[in-house]
Amino acid sequence: MTVRHDAHGESRDLQVNPVFSREPVRVPRYEMPDGEMEPDTAYQVVHDELMLDGNARQNLATFLSSWAEPQAMRLMTECAEKNMINKDEYPQTAELEARCVHMLARLWHADDPRRAMGCSTTGSSEAAMLGGLALKRRWQHRRRAEGRATDRPNLVMGGNVQICWEKFADYFEVEPRCVPMEGDRYHLTPDKAVERCDENTIGVVSVLGSTFDGSYEPVEEIAAALDDLQARTGLDVPLHVDGASGAMIAPFLDPDLRWDFRLPRVASINTSGHKYGLVMPGVGWALWRDADALPDDLVFHVNYLGGDMPTFALNFSRPGAQVVAQYYNFLRLGFDGYRRVQQTCRDVATRLAREIARLGPFELITDGSDIPVFAFRVREGIDHFSVFDVSAGLRERGWLVPAYTFPADRTDLAALRIVVRNGFSHDLADLLLADLRRLLPRLDTQHRPHRADEAGGFAHGAETRNPRRPGRH
Ligand SMILES: *Cc1c(COP(=O)(O)O)cnc(C)c1O
Repeated sequence: MTVRHDAHGESRDLQVNPVFSREPVRVPRYEMPDGEMEPDTAYQVVHDELMLDGNARQNLATFLSSWAEPQAMRLMTECAEKNMINKDEYPQTAELEARCVHMLARLWHADDPRRAMGCSTTGSSEAAMLGGLALKRRWQHRRRAEGRATDRPNLVMGGNVQICWEKFADYFEVEPRCVPMEGDRYHLTPDKAVERCDENTIGVVSVLGSTFDGSYEPVEEIAAALDDLQARTGLDVPLHVDGASGAMIAPFLDPDLRWDFRLPRVASINTSGHKYGLVMPGVGWALWRDADALPDDLVFHVNYLGGDMPTFALNFSRPGAQVVAQYYNFLRLGFDGYRRVQQTCRDVATRLAREIARLGPFELITDGSDIPVFAFRVREGIDHFSVFDVSAGLRERGWLVPAYTFPADRTDLAALRIVVRNGFSHDLADLLLADLRRLLPRLDTQHRPHRADEAGGFAHGAETRNPRRPGRH
């Protein structure tokens, strides 16, 4: 990553408001100051600059929590110094992590939650790397035992997967077999998944809560198709569920939906504790059905300060505070508390989607009834403004609603997406609707769209590494 140091004609120094500085100070922008300054001065300089960041409550682009209870914040401050890896020195933090894994194993219907394996991570991306690595290693072991080649592993997934799966494939040298979108099919389907599987397939990834439109993929049907594939051909292809959002929605709102360890085909599941797990940014979870699904040779047994510490992680040191906050949320809300929070998000999302559809120029792609996220487009035949104009217009009032084009083979489709999170109330939804209504007459005076897809840039993982659009990942 290169850092641009051209100050564009600004002073290379930051200007300090004389009211806040105790004595004249020089605050260089791009070099470390020679000496110290008063903590209050340094605080004010940093604080003032950060005011330019967007307002998290109006950020409808991100899936990540932007609000936590003061008690959770207090616990996080109390645990700011705890390093998750120091399980020997902070055994209770490690214990809380283990309890969270256990609770998730139950929530996701592991046959025997005590036999499930799992760990916290920095987010779903790290969890996806671990899930993918376990699939790859299991496949390698099986192939080697059969005396067959292990040089061409592939992973089958929909073209709608979050960017972390493209990263996994790239970093760990696995061929990504992405099923392109087609017509109004925007995610993976059983027949297309099975079509791409062969003896080199380490697994299939199915997404519960697609980044592009919030839809659940038909995990149970994909699992059944893979069962059928095994019955017909002997190919035994495991399934990993990327439940970054959905694994913390479906258990509470769709208890009859079978997407989890109830399906024997599902080997592992990840979720983002910092999305609908309601923790501030910095925690995810990866779980495996049992020890067979997580090859032991991936787990490092570190002899650390006299204790045997099994770890499976990409990082060594990692903050423990978010894990503590996850445990706090589980205790504080319980099943029914989570159900109520998620149901409120779904109610807000589905109502807002309905109201937007009634405005006239928009057409829903999804309606917020899976994860509380929906995508919509400008109706066919409206060609005097684009979704990018809508996004820019809403931004004038502080709303961050991303507009982006879909991946192959639907790069012709441009959409807006709204992520409803805890804290985005019916009242805020009404304010957004009012601003959208106010914007439409102005857009109607345009003769042609003012902005195209370069105007986007904050789609939170819905951007793709598309060779035709370099630099957007
Ligand atoms: C957000 C998301 C990810 C990445 O998760 P992080 O916690 O941000 O690393 C992966 N998959 C899906 C489906 C997501 O929505």
